[in-house]
Amino acid sequence: MQMFTSTRDKYKARHYCADCADTNKEVRAELAAAHTAHFLDITDDPQEIEGKTCEACQRLISEVSDHPGTYRLQAQVTFPVDVVLQARSATDAEYQLDEGVERADFAIAMQDLREECWRG
Ligand SMILES: [Zn+2]
Repeated sequence: MQMFTSTRDKYKARHYCADCADTNKEVRAELAAAHTAHFLDITDDPQEIEGKTCEACQRLISEVSDHPGTYRLQAQVTFPVDVVLQARSATDAEYQLDEGVERADFAIAMQDLREECWRG
């Protein structure tokens, strides 16, 4: 069992079961919004879950199985990088960096940049 709680509405916490959290479109949207606003809590503490019912399916959350397993996910990662590279002008350096970063594999991109600089 696992309980998902949105406290976006500060007057009424909304609890959801693992089934609805994984499959119910409206629940997923609510949880995503709660997560973005930092109003989402996820727990598998039996004491917290005891007696709570799911807002969407009205079942006792303690009676709904969770879905343990391995999940493959994707995330967009954005981070700033300081790079020092050799080029014949600042503009050339800028374009070289852009070209390198556009490629998917960051390690290969950096390797290419280095090689291009030596050749250039
Ligand atoms: Zn439910």
